[in-house]
Amino acid sequence: MQHPELKTPYFMIDESKLIRNLEIAKKLKELSGVKLVLALKCFSTWGVFDIIKPYLDGTTSSGPFEVKLGYDTFGGETHAYSVGYSEDDVKEVADICDKMIFNSQNQLAAHRHLVEGKAELGLRLNPGVSYAGQDLADPARQFSRLGVQVNHINPEVFSSIDGVMFHMNCENKDVDAFIRLLDDISEQFGTYLDQLKWVSLGGGVFFTWPGYDVEKLAAALKAFSDKHGVQLYLEPGEAIITQTTDLVVTVVDIVENELKTAIVDSATEAHRLDTLIYNEPASILGASESGDHRYVIGSCSCLAGDQFCVTQFDQPLEIGQRLHILDSAGYTMVKLNWFNGLKMPSIYCQRANGEVQKLNEFGYEDFKRSLSQWSVS
Ligand SMILES: *Cc1c(COP(=O)(O)O)cnc(C)c1O
Repeated sequence: MQHPELKTPYFMIDESKLIRNLEIAKKLKELSGVKLVLALKCFSTWGVFDIIKPYLDGTTSSGPFEVKLGYDTFGGETHAYSVGYSEDDVKEVADICDKMIFNSQNQLAAHRHLVEGKAELGLRLNPGVSYAGQDLADPARQFSRLGVQVNHINPEVFSSIDGVMFHMNCENKDVDAFIRLLDDISEQFGTYLDQLKWVSLGGGVFFTWPGYDVEKLAAALKAFSDKHGVQLYLEPGEAIITQTTDLVVTVVDIVENELKTAIVDSATEAHRLDTLIYNEPASILGASESGDHRYVIGSCSCLAGDQFCVTQFDQPLEIGQRLHILDSAGYTMVKLNWFNGLKMPSIYCQRANGEVQKLNEFGYEDFKRSLSQWSVS
């Protein structure tokens, strides 16, 4: 749907598409008994949490402010995980979280006294196996600091914690590959898991991907939780929000240097950072592989290589035309920054009834405030 009255750049979250993902999540829960907590590091736009809450069990976090946000705006179960807690962090979140998951046995030993009696205790284990397309995002990469390696485990620890967390998938669309990881975990850690109340299998299981065999996943999860007598959790981020949101931009110029570049009023470095970090080109609504008109969709930042993608269209692009950069919700709005002093995209939600609601709008004052609040005197 076009909204010429809205100023670009903006994000448009589509409620109907979100509900489509959430219905799959609901089915997975019903079939398997798994509990689902939203990974806030992927998506924290709390303005739409009222849509998500009825479907999920709570939130999980990667840092202290996410714990607070989950508690404040989502409710349900609040899981608190961090790769490295300071003592102040622990004190700040222990009262508001239901489960506190430490990344190492060191951290657990140092801080458990601050948590006991307030929240359940968990420890992240590293299974040494993973499914991740990129080394940067692979928790089992060489020298990984994420979780305790199996040969470093002190088995006594399991008698004084409630659960463990594994996170070893990134956009895993292959249910059989996931089940192999599950079997591997059962084999390596089974005797430890039998002593626990809960096991979280982390995020990255892409069960909302078209054609994903949700029944097969559910059966495997149910078998695992029955075998080890644990409540299972998944921590989906991207799977919940995938394919729900466009970043809408305007072509402000077209330049030519062997290839034509359409320059738009947004930048990957500021507004869609993972395009750059993971070198994963964006997709544009209406582009066609067979189109005759080829363009770099270039950003308006000063970074020479900052582009959304190279793609073709059936018709030439025009200055003033709007482009919808697809699938721009996960790991995007949470990473917005003010590089180059660009206007930050507004955030809207298109409700299922067609109504458009504004969730956020940023101005010069927000930019200025992010840089200093006081000046030297
Ligand atoms: C990143 C992360 C998630 C969410 O991952 P998605 O790929 O967005 O599902 C869940 N749990 C942990 C521990 C993570 O680091």
